[in-house]
Amino acid sequence: DILTDITARRAALTPERPAFHIVETGEIISFARLEDRSARAATVLAERGVGEGDRVAILCRNRVEFFEALFACAKLGAILAPLNWRMPARELAELLADCAPTCLLVGSEDRQKAAAAAQSLALIFVDLENEWPAARDAAPPHPGRPAWPGDQPWYLIYTSGTTGRPKGVIQTYRMALVNYVNISQAIDLRDGEATVNFLPLFHTAGINLHTLPVLMAGGLNHLLPGFDAGTVLRLIDDGQLDVMLCVPAVYRELALHPDFATADLTRLRHWACGGAPMPDVLIETFAARGAVVCNGFGMTETGPTAFLMDREHALERIGSVGKPQLLIEARIATPDGEALASGGTGEVQFFGPGLTPGYWQRDDETAKLFTADGWLKSGDLGRFDADGYCYIAGRIKEMYISGGENVYPAEVENVLDEHPAVQESAVTGIADDKWGEVGCAHLILRDGQAVTDMALRDWCRERLAGYKVPRHFRRTNDFPRTAAGKVQKHLLPLPETVE
Ligand code: ATP
Ligand code: MG
Repeated sequence: DILTDITARRAALTPERPAFHIVETGEIISFARLEDRSARAATVLAERGVGEGDRVAILCRNRVEFFEALFACAKLGAILAPLNWRMPARELAELLADCAPTCLLVGSEDRQKAAAAAQSLALIFVDLENEWPAARDAAPPHPGRPAWPGDQPWYLIYTSGTTGRPKGVIQTYRMALVNYVNISQAIDLRDGEATVNFLPLFHTAGINLHTLPVLMAGGLNHLLPGFDAGTVLRLIDDGQLDVMLCVPAVYRELALHPDFATADLTRLRHWACGGAPMPDVLIETFAARGAVVCNGFGMTETGPTAFLMDREHALERIGSVGKPQLLIEARIATPDGEALASGGTGEVQFFGPGLTPGYWQRDDETAKLFTADGWLKSGDLGRFDADGYCYIAGRIKEMYISGGENVYPAEVENVLDEHPAVQESAVTGIADDKWGEVGCAHLILRDGQAVTDMALRDWCRERLAGYKVPRHFRRTNDFPRTAAGKVQKHLLPLPETVE
């Protein structure tokens, strides 16, 4: 149960192969080069006092130096802690206090904010543009260690903060290995296949889906500083990508891009999706263009993928996240861990070798994460159908009760998203004197479209039980979101302000 130094092993196996292609500049970084840079970077970090178990915080857009730092940490047994550059200095200061790094690596564009956030901390700064490359190239390669125990922390990923303050999830070497097995098995990842990296690197998907598995398989990552629909569609149309995972917000933007109608989507072999509820209609939009999108479910805490739909059944069972992956068990239970009768809706819970040991320095939260019999509580509701396919009903916190009946907002959103005038919806429960709670639908309409409340109500009534039909409708230009585009429902306007 150990993970070897994968950059070193990969460099030994396939030194000349490209590991990264920096799309903006055309630069190619081979596995040998990546390994050499990472080994030298480890010396740079060691010279700045970083040793086993120490944290190295990093604040930057997607760039190859991030991965050099990640693999340098693996050589030292240090823990990389990526920080969210969308956060204001005050929130960054909280994360810095939380992970207490020895050293902070920062991209030039975030330098000022980093300085403001780190004010009172004795921290060593390394500028990734002006300092890192020269220091790295001048340093001798660090010999590193051939392997680390599976339960040793490698990096810390803060949760998306969709429901509140982000928590630092410990990612061990074992988790990275299990994720590789699960992903490569589920998408049939082949030797040397290519993907694209643009999801933010401070969330689990940016590192783990599919970037690390593809690197482990000797494949190529096209690296973009951030998401750009036109560039991604061009890479797909050029046949440069074999596999890709996106979040629903990205699928939405791809579908809205003018090139969507003409790009040859069939050149990309495996389309995966996860991280937030995926509207059925979006899967149908991609299917109509020849792309079979496999929906999956993952959490930072599960490393992340837990469920992924198999490609053969993806279009027959739109709405399902598939079956648990090879190295994970899932069950539906009460929050106390009592198994539910088959077919019932309850909390989705997980067991297996790829789960986090817990949150960084938050024993109280870690204790709440597991049931007494050691299963990880997702905080999400779901059910299995008779064939073992899972359907996610949404977060426990977001479910509301109207006239004594449970309403799962994701189900209502799915129906609203199918309305031709609606681009995106978010449903929340708000207090109501008569029914206890009623639904409020927050809507982003398609460009130039309008629709009355009555028409929306009728649309829902034809498709949903009466108690699920939202009572209030509110139109808006955008929702409060996380970096990966997840809607932060607790930041939507409070009930009082909704007429
Ligand atoms: P925080 O824990 O800080 O509130 P978060 O839960 O959004 O943020 P992540 O670990 O990035 O942080 O996301 C995991 C969550 O995303 C899951 O618990 C689930 O609510 C949601 N999710 C992931 N995949 C899906 C999916 N396919 N369908 C519906 N929801 C999903
Ligand atoms: Mg969470």
